[in-house]
Amino acid sequence: MTHYIEPAPIKDKENPLESMMQRFDKAVELLGISEEMYYILKVPARQVTVGLPITMDDGRIKVYEGYRVIHSNILGPAKGGIRFDPAVNLDEVRALAAWMTWKCAVVDIPYGGAKGGISCDPRQMSAGEIERLMRAYTVAMLDVFGPDRDIPAPDMGTGPREMAWLMDEYSKAKGMTINAVVTGKPLVLGGSLGRTEATGRGVMVSALSGMDKLRLNPYKATAAVQGFGNVGSHAASLLHERGVTVQAISDISGAYYNDRGIDIEAAMRYRDANKGTLQGFDGAEKISNDDLLTLAVDVLVPAAKEDVITHDNAHLIQAKMIVEGANGPTSASADDIINDKGILVVPDILANAGGVTVSYFEWVQNRIGYKWTLDRINRRSDRIMKDAFDKVFATSQEYNVPMRIAAYMVAIKKVSDTYKFRGGY
Ligand code: GLU
Repeated sequence: MTHYIEPAPIKDKENPLESMMQRFDKAVELLGISEEMYYILKVPARQVTVGLPITMDDGRIKVYEGYRVIHSNILGPAKGGIRFDPAVNLDEVRALAAWMTWKCAVVDIPYGGAKGGISCDPRQMSAGEIERLMRAYTVAMLDVFGPDRDIPAPDMGTGPREMAWLMDEYSKAKGMTINAVVTGKPLVLGGSLGRTEATGRGVMVSALSGMDKLRLNPYKATAAVQGFGNVGSHAASLLHERGVTVQAISDISGAYYNDRGIDIEAAMRYRDANKGTLQGFDGAEKISNDDLLTLAVDVLVPAAKEDVITHDNAHLIQAKMIVEGANGPTSASADDIINDKGILVVPDILANAGGVTVSYFEWVQNRIGYKWTLDRINRRSDRIMKDAFDKVFATSQEYNVPMRIAAYMVAIKKVSDTYKFRGGY
């Protein structure tokens, strides 16, 4: 048994950083950005790698590698989640950090972009081991994090519990409670109402906005949702609530299909009572994860991880619309195939921005020491998502480009215009 947890190797095929850069380059070219601005926007502001020795429950010490990349702080303090997953490596974190910059700019919230991650498998770790890892990571990042510097949040493999440990460790080091240092906290620690469902809710708003453009009636539309974590399950449940028939869902145990629609609430209850997986869920027929992606549904929501729609399967996609709940689910090599098929893609940096939008509301509430109602939060975040959709859609019409490139254009223009005003520091 090894005592060093080797980070995942950097893939040369379908590398998310490459995928991000290819779209970035296209948008930059269309905008006519200068070469100096290109490098200002491309090179991450700060990248930190730390080694974290953790005492495991059996008394042995394992050493994990943790990362935090601040891609940009031009629009404001950096913002972005922390991922616990065996596939984490520096290139992935760099891509995810840049996506946060573009995401915050698309929805027009005053944050730069960052991302953190630890190459680890939380499913194989006890709660105590995860807690020690999270606290060690926080201590290692004390001079990186801060409510006016860099504000972490949950991402794959982390949630409110981990954010509570982060807040506690950071507060202890500073000698006072500073809850605005992190978002996605439990409600009792200053978390915001609506944060848990926020990303899924934004996916729903994006999907309905897209359906409207395609003249699809939600009550007659069908959807398949890949991934049944925080994003996928809430997206599925909210789409269902708006009349859409969700015919398929999936998680690591496989995919589940029912042409009359899956009872999403029942699936969520089942998952919660079954150690977080859908294994054995019987409200549907079992199919493969690959089959889910190519079902003849109206809306496909990839809400798990990067690079699930690639050069290899893009030509098989039958959906009329793809709404990206995950970050980077479509690799750049699939873009042309998808566009040639006339599929409307609501890209990740727009479709899944509802999460960071409500994170922003959480931070604002922490700073003013007040709690907003759920109704206020939902109304404001829905408006932000709808306005961002309309702006990106209008840009895509104006330049005759796919919504993905239009979203990058909106974001890059905003960040570069801001830089021109403030200059460097
Ligand atoms: N991890 C989420 C994302 O990728 C949320 C980030 C945040 O709330 O800061 O958008």
